[in-house]
Amino acid sequence: MKKVPELFGSMVFNESVMRERLPKAIFRALENTRQTGAALAPDVADVVASAMKDWAVEKGATHYTHWFQPMTGITAEKHDSFLSPQPGGKAIMEFSGKELTKGEPDASSFPSGGLRATFEARGYTAWDPTSDAFIKDDTLYIPTAFCSYTGEVLDKKTPLLRSMEAISRQAVRVLALFGKNVCRVTTTVGPEQEYFLIDRAAYAKRPDLILTGRTLFGAPAPKGQEMEDHYFGAIRPRVKAFMAELDEELWKLGIHAKTEHNEVAPCQHEMAPIFSTTNIAADHNQLAMEVMKTVAARHGFVCLLHEKPFEGINGSGKHNNWSISTDTGENLLDPGKTPASNAQFLLFLTAVVKAVDEYQDLLRISVATAGNDHRLGANEAPPAIVSMYIGDELQAVVDELVSGKPHANTTPGTMDVGVLAIPPIPLDNSDRNRTSPFAFTGNKFEFRMPGSSLNIACTNIMLNTAVAEELRQFADELESVSDFAAALDTLVRRELSAHQRILFNGNGYGSEWPEEAARRGLLNLPSTPEALPHYVDQKNLKLFARHGVYSESEMRSRLEIVLEEYAKTVRIEAATSVDMLRRMILPACMAYGRTLAEGAAAKQSIGLPDLPEKELATDLSRRITLLVQQTEHLEQVLEQVPADLEQAALYYRKNVLPVMDEARVTADGLEGRVAKNFWPMPDYADLLFYV
Ligand code: ADP
Ligand code: MG
Repeated sequence: MKKVPELFGSMVFNESVMRERLPKAIFRALENTRQTGAALAPDVADVVASAMKDWAVEKGATHYTHWFQPMTGITAEKHDSFLSPQPGGKAIMEFSGKELTKGEPDASSFPSGGLRATFEARGYTAWDPTSDAFIKDDTLYIPTAFCSYTGEVLDKKTPLLRSMEAISRQAVRVLALFGKNVCRVTTTVGPEQEYFLIDRAAYAKRPDLILTGRTLFGAPAPKGQEMEDHYFGAIRPRVKAFMAELDEELWKLGIHAKTEHNEVAPCQHEMAPIFSTTNIAADHNQLAMEVMKTVAARHGFVCLLHEKPFEGINGSGKHNNWSISTDTGENLLDPGKTPASNAQFLLFLTAVVKAVDEYQDLLRISVATAGNDHRLGANEAPPAIVSMYIGDELQAVVDELVSGKPHANTTPGTMDVGVLAIPPIPLDNSDRNRTSPFAFTGNKFEFRMPGSSLNIACTNIMLNTAVAEELRQFADELESVSDFAAALDTLVRRELSAHQRILFNGNGYGSEWPEEAARRGLLNLPSTPEALPHYVDQKNLKLFARHGVYSESEMRSRLEIVLEEYAKTVRIEAATSVDMLRRMILPACMAYGRTLAEGAAAKQSIGLPDLPEKELATDLSRRITLLVQQTEHLEQVLEQVPADLEQAALYYRKNVLPVMDEARVTADGLEGRVAKNFWPMPDYADLLFYV
């Protein structure tokens, strides 16, 4: 392996490569575009494209692709070669500014939720110069936004960029009130990615894993995660080799993979990068998930990114660590050491508290998928109720502000926001509550609800826009006052009092919490189909329209897409269940039952007295009869899905999933009673405890 500094970013057309390869004036023009979003002149784009191509060809690239994130949640690409035919049967490698900045993939098969009639197949991709181009598999990848002929966005990157603009605009206004001349504010994200690694050969024998990403059947192995011997445990050599190559591949792509460790469940691991600007973090996370899968294949593994691949052991999440920084390098969620910076911190903290309270539904929706429904609200993951944990130290400060009574550490009479001393917040200490969905961790918030396969753009669009809205309201109010300090004090106290119900420092996994949350009037949206319709509530439509993040038609189309995605996912799972029951599980059970019956008959024919085979066969037969009925029932419910999309999604949740579960219980019971050599697929022990 090359030395890390040499390797790092070696496949990225990053700022230092640009500086080295572009004429000074062109570099400056491009930098200006990258910082301010100003359009790039066509002749400048030509020079950039040509330099990019030369660099890429030197690194062995033959093709380029516009890389985009359609609303399917994964990334899409269409490869073109640089080849340009020349007279005399020759060819040269060419790449123009136009090809760099704009693409026109035939996009009729991407979901658009009615935004683009299928006959109007054209979708446009437009270069996002703020995210660096890179080389993967001999192809130059150009990060792009994706929109329709009429300019409506069809992807996840564009609204994310818009939401970053929105929060920047409003935060700059607020900072000006504190006398700070800041041009731009960016949100930063560090996503911790959990995943499972299982043996490829075993995976290949499980249609459920292949078709749905999770096991639809499987009795618990005799051993699960109860010994707690996997968490942070020694990494087995085969996995270690995978992780080493993963790091290397990610580093080449300029992704700061930093932490690799074993997680709670057997075969479960985590990769955490160092945080970066949100749109880069989102691009990098999409890329990282893809690279994980490819590198896994090279090591005879399959990387499972599903939220709940196995029953009875932990599922996988993706913690979204989020903060706000200025272009002058100040982290706005760092409490700081002096009272003056405390006042500013308190205002930003108040904005986040208010945003999370007022837009609980959006945060919940941003993580709502069929896969994540198996995690949220179960005993291993945050509940489906959104709440915030800010740590004991900050909670004391908030209590003090809300009640007007100083706590022990404050000198009486010095209690307005401007001079309120905030105790130092230890980074690790403030994170004692691991059950909170949204926890303050010293200088950032950690949102723990996202599922492992999620595109983090969704969550950060909601978060950025909601906080932008609160900052807008604060700026509107404070810009017009004569006594800023007094007005600030009033505002912070008023808003913290109004929204303190969202703060919860207790056990989020406890059974009392849902009741307490209901008393507080917090939303409890236990499943995806129950959460999704809130997306187009008036207040949410208004929020996104006001900040120019989504138009109403864009939101309605998105709702349609996610509802459809949910319905399709459960339908595929149910169909796979039926298929496995009819063609694998039932035949295996019957074959084994027949062996038992034949054994019993043979023993009986020679007059042997004890016939346990008969008892076993009788029990098996009863269970098989039940399973046949349950399979038929599942087939029936699949034939009665309502036509209306919202109704259909609810129907899958309420009428299909429970029937699948019933059949699974019976099938798993049979698995424990059928000889292993009759069972038609690897079991949980085979899958989870490979060598
Ligand atoms: P833990 O497992 O205790 O939650 P990790 O160290 O695994 O912590 O992950 C913390 C993540 O938070 C890392 O990705 C880190 O880069 C990120 N992070 C740290 N500071 C910030 C910040 N200011 N903004 C966004 N993310 C941050
Ligand atoms: Mg974490």
